[in-house]
Amino acid sequence: MSDASQGLRLYNTLTRTKEDFVPIDPRNVRMYVCGPTVYDFAHIGNARPVIVFDVLFRLLRHLHGETHVTYVRNITDVDDKINARALRDFGGEIASGALSLNEAIRRVTEKTADQFHRDVATLGCLEPTVEPRATEFVEPRADGKADMITLIQSLIGRGHAYVAAGEVLFDTASMPDYGQLSKRNLDEQQAGARIAVDAHKKNPGDFVLWKLSSPEEPGWRSPWGRGRPGWHIECSAMSAAYLGEVFDIHGGGLDLIFPHHENEIAQSRCAHGTSVMANVWMHNGFLQVEGQKMSKSLGNFYSIHELLETDTFGGRKWPGDVLRLAMLMTHYREPIDFSVRKLEEAENTLRKWKRAADLAPAAGSQLPVEVVEALSDDLATYAAFQQLTQLAGEASDFDGNGDNAAAVALKTALTFLGFDIGATKVDETVVAKAIAERLTLIAAKNWAEADRVRDELLAQGVQLKDGKDPVTGERVTTWEIKR
Ligand code: AMP
Ligand code: ZN
Repeated sequence: MSDASQGLRLYNTLTRTKEDFVPIDPRNVRMYVCGPTVYDFAHIGNARPVIVFDVLFRLLRHLHGETHVTYVRNITDVDDKINARALRDFGGEIASGALSLNEAIRRVTEKTADQFHRDVATLGCLEPTVEPRATEFVEPRADGKADMITLIQSLIGRGHAYVAAGEVLFDTASMPDYGQLSKRNLDEQQAGARIAVDAHKKNPGDFVLWKLSSPEEPGWRSPWGRGRPGWHIECSAMSAAYLGEVFDIHGGGLDLIFPHHENEIAQSRCAHGTSVMANVWMHNGFLQVEGQKMSKSLGNFYSIHELLETDTFGGRKWPGDVLRLAMLMTHYREPIDFSVRKLEEAENTLRKWKRAADLAPAAGSQLPVEVVEALSDDLATYAAFQQLTQLAGEASDFDGNGDNAAAVALKTALTFLGFDIGATKVDETVVAKAIAERLTLIAAKNWAEADRVRDELLAQGVQLKDGKDPVTGERVTTWEIKR
């Protein structure tokens, strides 16, 4: 694989422009996305970054090779909202001594994380490569991976953090270019801050790295007393632990630009002495429901689980792939209005695509190049879907001679995009191994053995097609499933 951009262009919030994406190491493309805080069911707005960055993960794997992409999405399992939920749900057991607060917290976070995993799997999302939990990265680790306490110590040691009133605070004034991502300068932040509340801070924009816990609150031992981390430091620790001090892509929803991502950048850059934390910062737009901001008080707040399993939205349940398509019909940076009409539109489109894709016995190995090109233009999913609709038309008009190539291409693209079309499952690694073995045999002019490998695959329903790479002229073998 070459180290060029592979044609991928991504909009970078840091520069406010669409740029060629050139990975630092094309053999290990590294992406971090802020994951859920696990105290309650994930809502349909939370599903947006999960689905959007799943598409990017799939595209990166296609462009750079499946084993050449590391996608880290954390689980935030330390947060005051989680403590409150544990006290609400297990207050009795805690009071009677049947459960400790920590045990109650673990019950809340495990149950919520399990539900989240089921929800996003139903939405067709692949598991990230690693899914670290914040609580496992608070204290120095036996494996030597980055942790929050050590990071905070480095920030203090380098003069970027100070202790005041039982807190460790990041000193924003110590970083001359603080605010690059959100394009806020320190004066603007000071003007808006509530000075009286923050009397112990040197600057109103200074933020918490560590705070003390009362005996009833969860806490870890630290050089600054028993306490717990601020929100932002966890992502600086977990990204460094798995992706290093500088990596390729960092993502999340638009609301995270400030303060969360700005502060992650400040912590990571100042702790490591680097000029960037991640090269590309990507943010998905917000989701509204039926034209209004989603909120519990307006009664238009829907969890993914409710949409999938109950009749609360439009009086019926919605399949995961319909929710997925509806989410991707709008470009990821635009605001999206989630409505019954939109879901119905997605359902109709999906029905047409599936009907046409069913004309092919199974997916092939070659993704339509137009689909890759559309996605490579800052994830222009809508343009990719236009291609699918065109393929569906061609597949349905098929005259019955030869292969219905459009149907195969459509099925391949739908599978790639994470839509469940009940395709025949093939172990791709086994096929790839057999293809490589056959190419070696051909190179050695061992035709009989090479044919045997080909026929064995065919007996399993996998048909090989030989061709030439138009650029290198090398022999390439693709495959598809035969009935
Ligand atoms: P949270 O658990 O609130 O930190 O959110 C988890 C992820 O969901 C973050 O990337 C948020 O930016 C994103 N998110 C939260 N609400 C919405 C929404 N209404 N629309 C789109 N993304 C959202
Ligand atoms: Zn984060």
